[in-house]
Parts: sequence; structure tokens; C-alpha cells
Amino acid sequence: MIIDIDQLSQEGWKISKDFEFSSGELVEERTTFHRPVHAEMWVKKEGEDVLVKGRISSWLSLLCSRCLLPYNFSVDSEFDHVYMPEEFEEIKEELEEEDINKLFYYNRELNLRDVVLEQLNLTFPLKPLCSEDCQGICPVCGNLVSSGKCTCRVHDADPRLEKLNLFRKDKTNG
Ligand SMILES: [Zn+2]
Ligand SMILES: [Zn+2]
Repeated sequence: MIIDIDQLSQEGWKISKDFEFSSGELVEERTTFHRPVHAEMWVKKEGEDVLVKGRISSWLSLLCSRCLLPYNFSVDSEFDHVYMPEEFEEIKEELEEEDINKLFYYNRELNLRDVVLEQLNLTFPLKPLCSEDCQGICPVCGNLVSSGKCTCRVHDADPRLEKLNLFRKDKTNG
């Protein structure tokens, strides 16, 4: 959905829309959507700046980086962005500190799909985890530690305890 900046009024437009994305467009490529990304946005003009205030929500599934199993992840994120005309990009360095984070629009257009996609990518965790204490896959047998198939016990061994056990073993043997 492309907004023509010259058609945009001061009071702006309220937009409520669903957006579909393919996983290849996301920072987390192994994402499956359970539903499209719903966006509620208020787009308005302030001088030559375009203000986009909104909220996105979705329900999707990510792959856990430890156990590699999919888990559900809900997106609910609010944002408040200011887009400046592209001419300002050239003098970006000269803009005040607080203006550096400003975004730009090009050819008198703003693509709302890009706005939503950018916001969606920002909501993903850096390291997706199904749970904080996910034990993942055993490096020795390759089974899921929580599956019961792994009996290696290396993953939860305390190295100090291990040394102590070896020491005791030596004593009994000797
Ligand atoms: Zn996991
Ligand atoms: Zn194991």
C-alpha cells in the first residue's frame, strides 16, 4: 500500500489493514505465519514530514535456536516514526543528534508495507528460544536433552564435581 505524500492531508488517514509477508523477507527466515500481520496506523503530514503512528500484531511460529523446534510467538508492537523527504538524507550528518534516527521517504511516496515489514523485523528476538531454560540438543548423542533419549549426562555435569569424582575413583582404585 503506497501513500502519495501530495494527497496526504494534515489531519491524515487512519488505516487498518492486513499485510502478508514471505519468510524470505524476514530477519528470521524460518518463520511460519499463523495469521497475516494486522496493522492499525495513523499517517499524517506535519510540514514536509510524514508521521506514522501505529501498532502491529500477528501470531507466528519461530524456530528455537537451541532445540530447533518451532514455537509460537505473538507480535504486538507499537511504533511512532517520522519520515522526512529524501532531500534531507544528504544533510543527515548535519541534522541534530535527535534527528539522526529519522527515516526518509522517496519519490513523494511512502510504502506502508515497508513500514510494517521494518517494524515486524524489529520485534524478532536476536536469539529465538522456546523457553529461557531450553536445554537444546545434546552435543554427544544428538538427541533432545528433554526427550528422555539422551542418557549422556554431560550437559548438566558440573566440571568441579567431575574432577572430584575422578579423584575419588583414583583413591578407591589405588
Ligand atoms: Zn528450544
Ligand atoms: Zn546425549
